[in-house]
Amino acid sequence: MQIKRIAVLGAGLMGHGIAQVAAQFAGYEVYLRDVEQRFLDRGIAMIKDSLERFRKKGVITEEQKSEILGKIHPTLDLELAVKQADLVIEAAPEEVELKKELFRKLDELAPPHTILASNTSSISITLLASQTKRPEKVCGMHFFNPPQLMKLVEIVKGQLTSDETVSVVQEVASKMGKETVIVKKDTPGFIVNRILIPALNEAIALLQEGVATKEDIDKAIRLGLNWPMGPLTLSDYVGNDTTLAVCDVLFKELGDPKYRPTYLLKLMVRAGLYGRKSGKGFYEWTSSGELKANS
Ligand code: NAD
Repeated sequence: MQIKRIAVLGAGLMGHGIAQVAAQFAGYEVYLRDVEQRFLDRGIAMIKDSLERFRKKGVITEEQKSEILGKIHPTLDLELAVKQADLVIEAAPEEVELKKELFRKLDELAPPHTILASNTSSISITLLASQTKRPEKVCGMHFFNPPQLMKLVEIVKGQLTSDETVSVVQEVASKMGKETVIVKKDTPGFIVNRILIPALNEAIALLQEGVATKEDIDKAIRLGLNWPMGPLTLSDYVGNDTTLAVCDVLFKELGDPKYRPTYLLKLMVRAGLYGRKSGKGFYEWTSSGELKANS
C-alpha cells in the first residue's frame, strides 16, 4: 500500500513537528487538524520557526521552506482532513475518552483502507483499535520530542494489528528519516516511557524529600549518566501534565506501587506548572521555549 496523503490530528507540541517532518523529509501532503484556529495558528508559527532554524543552518533554502509550508494544509474540519488520507496520525491530548471518541469518528470518516496511528505515550492501542471496525489497521506511532530532531519512532502493535500495517508505517517512518523499533506487545509506556517516566518520577521524589536542589539533581544525572538534560528539566520539557498522565497509566495498568506518581508531581499539575508549554514548571521558560537563565 502506498501512502500519499497524511492527516495529523492536533497541532500542539508533537503534532506540529510530526506534520513538519512528514512534509519536509518524506514530501507528503499533510492535513493538520486542530479544534480552534488559535491552536492551528500556533502550530503553523512553530513550524515556521523550526523551518527558519533549518534555513539559517543551511539545511534548506528559502524556496524549499515555502515548498514545505505549501504541503501543510491547516484545517478545523476533521472530515476534510481525513477523507482522502491514507494514514492518520493522531496527536491529540493524552486523554483516554477524547482519543476513544476521536477513533470512533475517524473510523466513520476515513476511507476503509486508511491506517489509523496514535502518537499516544501510554494509552492502550488495543483499546483505541476496539473503537473501530478496522483494528488490524490501528497501531501506535510514537514519536519523541521534538519530532523534527529525535530519531526514534516506536511502532506499537495492538492485539489485532496486522503485520502489513506495521510494515507500511515502518516505511513511512523511514521516509521521514526516522529509525524504528517494533513494540511487539501492547504494553503501558512501551519501551522508552516504561524506563523514562519512573526515572523522572524518582527525580521529583528526590526533590520532594529535600535530598538535593533541583539544579543538583539535574546536574547529577547530566554528568553522571551523560543525559543531554537533567530529569527535572526534561519533565518540564515534555510537560509535567504528560509525565503525570503516563505515570498514572503505568501505575493503574501495571499495578505496582513503584510506578505511583509522586505527590509533588500532582501538585505541580494542579497548579498549572506544566513546564515549557505554560512558561513555568520546575524552571521558568521563555515564550519561545528556551530555559530562562537563573530560573
Ligand atoms: P499538546 O497539548 O501540546 O497538543 C495537543 C493538541 O491537540 C492541542 O493543540 C489541542 O487543541 C489539540 N486537540 C484537542 N482535541 C483535538 C481533536 N479532537 N482533534 C485534533 N486536535 C485536537 O499535546 P502534545 O504534547 O503534543 O501531546 C499529544 C500526544 O502526543 C499525546 O498523546 C502525548 O501523550 C503524545 N506525546 C507527547 C510527547 C511530549 O513530549 N509532549 C512525546 C511523545 C508523545
